[in-house]
Amino acid sequence: MDLEIDGRLADLTFDEERQAALEVVRAAASGCLDCPLGAIGTQTVFGAGPVTARLMFIGEAPGGQEDKAGRPFIGPAGKLFDEALEAAGIDRSAVYVTNTVKHRPWIAGPTGRQKNRAPKQSEINACRQWLLRELALVQPSVVACLGAKAAQAVLGKAFRLTDQRGTWVQSEAAPHVLATLHPSYVLIQPEESRERVRNLFFDDIRIAGDRYRHLGEVEAAAAVL
Ligand code: SF4
Repeated sequence: MDLEIDGRLADLTFDEERQAALEVVRAAASGCLDCPLGAIGTQTVFGAGPVTARLMFIGEAPGGQEDKAGRPFIGPAGKLFDEALEAAGIDRSAVYVTNTVKHRPWIAGPTGRQKNRAPKQSEINACRQWLLRELALVQPSVVACLGAKAAQAVLGKAFRLTDQRGTWVQSEAAPHVLATLHPSYVLIQPEESRERVRNLFFDDIRIAGDRYRHLGEVEAAAAVL
């Protein structure tokens, strides 16, 4: 691909081409109105991270803070997610983080205040086009789905998070896919069970990080042969 910069044609590397293509998709998604969420959200919250990321996290949907900032996983659940990444030795700037739907699903509460709600299946289906494009361009080796909605969006409706949490699955999305709890679910646990559930979530993120690092080492070793 040639890109015109300051009147000159620039030759792009393969990774630069992919990054440029991802930016084109991001721009296209910013004007999306393919489901009703597009008309009620502040903005599209597209995925964030380098196109070269080998590990992708897929959550459910943006919440209020993400909707305002236009970035995924920055609210309370995002903070817990960051803690889990840090505990697992995963550098967030090296991974790709996105959601199954790119606009915030919400309803008006009794006082008129906006409350997050789960995305409807029709909204997940409509938004799948963007997730598939992200997967096609990033081509992660490892995908970690956060929550049942994300897991079913990637692995199919038959996937049961309660039975299959933390187990590796091969899928079209990536050779190594694992589903774990959504950090929001951890945060709403009663105090007596929160630490146990938090540990499950942290363990799964660590397992995903270990697999991602192991595959990186295998790829690096193969490259020097
Ligand atoms: S949620 Fe997805 S499909 Fe719906 S309007 Fe937003 S970007 Fe488009």
